[in-house]
Amino acid sequence: MHLPKFTYFKPETLEAAVALLQAHGPNVRVVSGGTELFPRMKIGLDNPDVLIGLKAIHPLPPMMTADKTLVMDALMPLSEVYCSELIRNQAPLLSEAAYRVASQEIRNMGTLGGNLCQNTRCLYYNQTHDFQFVEPCFKRDGKRCYFIPKGKKCWAVFMADTALALIALDAMIKVAGPGKPERIFPLEELYSGEALDPLTIGPDEIITEVRIPPQHPLGGTAFIKFSLRGGVEFAVLSAAVALDLADDGVTCSQARIVVGAVSASPLRARAAESFLAGKALTEQFIDETIFGWHDDIIRYVCGRFVDDLFIFGKYIGVSREELHMCHEWNFSNRRQRRRREYEKFYARHVECRVSEEASCCYIL
Ligand SMILES: Cc1cc2nc3c(=O)[nH]c(=O)nc-3n(C[C@H](O)[C@H](O)[C@H](O)COP(=O)(O)OP(=O)(O)OC[C@H]3O[C@@H](n4cnc5c(N)ncnc54)[C@H](O)[C@@H]3O)c2cc1C
Ligand code: SF4
Repeated sequence: MHLPKFTYFKPETLEAAVALLQAHGPNVRVVSGGTELFPRMKIGLDNPDVLIGLKAIHPLPPMMTADKTLVMDALMPLSEVYCSELIRNQAPLLSEAAYRVASQEIRNMGTLGGNLCQNTRCLYYNQTHDFQFVEPCFKRDGKRCYFIPKGKKCWAVFMADTALALIALDAMIKVAGPGKPERIFPLEELYSGEALDPLTIGPDEIITEVRIPPQHPLGGTAFIKFSLRGGVEFAVLSAAVALDLADDGVTCSQARIVVGAVSASPLRARAAESFLAGKALTEQFIDETIFGWHDDIIRYVCGRFVDDLFIFGKYIGVSREELHMCHEWNFSNRRQRRRREYEKFYARHVECRVSEEASCCYIL
């Protein structure tokens, strides 16, 4: 597969990059690592006339401000985000999420800003069009959806890993663009929730900085990513959790839970957040309530997702046990033994054709 033709500029400062964006009109894109944009261009999902490469602009190292805000350059490669001792100490959730993106080679090229600006994806869309379809789908300006054959809109989902962690940590981003003053706003507002146009910034704007505010002294975080094969792969479901404890060290004072790969933007699990707030997270509570209500809690975390995944499973003839099995398979080291069972599940899963209602439930 070849890249289409484009004009390439390699400015050495952000100011020069913004000036080039202004000079080259609407069909211009910035490219940082190119690990998302170039594959998209190769399969015809994006076709800019002009690319402004940001690799000649050297990112500043992460730093703490006097008020304990962690400031990171958005041009930092993901491998540096993971390796930075400062980030690992101050925001281990982000380190962990950065480490879960793709492979070391891709993390060396891919940047934090590029990861936040990932487009929505779907199994059908992220492939070459020529041999795949007769008609283009909604996302390629067509009038149909292949994932949901009777769907009236695009159901592609947002799968970037670091965005979940940063939203759970209440991060802000700084954005620069031609003709506008720099603005700072919560990362959560970067996402529109629209699968066709998932970002609220224009292609002529650049994320320059990511800021994580001071974290609660009695806070804890976790990141989990579930992918079907467990290798260099996008998430099927991922979640970032940040829990703060009250002074008694037991009561949850605030919870922030963000779920990925289920909708067109990172999804705040607000029901789960309010369920946990004010609860004493004792061992008994965790054993009896969290583990005891396993499915219910997952449903709290993922909204209707898991329950409807089971409903969806019924439509395609996959049992609840098989879905659990697939999950376990991913985390077990008995891969070879379970491989055949898994492949059977996977084949049925991807080849399914179900009603719009059930499929929409699945994605939600
Ligand atoms: C095999 C493979 C596996 C992958 N697996 C994962 C995965 O598991 N998890 C995951 O999250 N991602 C994954 N990715 C996607 C990709 O590698 C990451 O999203 C990466 O962080 C993108 O960063 P980049 O700098 O390469 O972005 P680029 O490709 O340079 O840009 C991506 C988009 O963001 C825009 N952009 C880039 N930088 C900025 C900026 N500073 N401000 C504004 N807009 C900007 C570009 O215009 C473009 O539209 C995978 C990719 C591949 C090829
Ligand atoms: S969900 Fe449907 S419309 Fe959207 S990208 Fe996939 S096939 Fe295209």
